[in-house]
Amino acid sequence: MAEREVAAYVIGKRYDCDECGAEMVRDGVDPTVLTTWPPKYPHRCANGHVANLTRSYPGHNVLITNEDVPRAIRRRQPPVSGSDS
Ligand SMILES: [Zn+2]
Repeated sequence: MAEREVAAYVIGKRYDCDECGAEMVRDGVDPTVLTTWPPKYPHRCANGHVANLTRSYPGHNVLITNEDVPRAIRRRQPPVSGSDS
């Protein structure tokens, strides 16, 4: 079987506070990950509510499709040099 290129989309994810609706973010100064199972990530909203979430926000997922890469994007790809091994 040969590798084939397909279109993919990056889907951004944000989490809104369950109590006030403001966006929850991780404290950039404190990279704590709680060693529970599953691991949890402390978050805080602008109004001071805290929550330990099972994912880190903001985050993203990559949706891989079976669609051909649009021609306009394919033209912008740099030439491939060398070979895969
Ligand atoms: Zn809040």
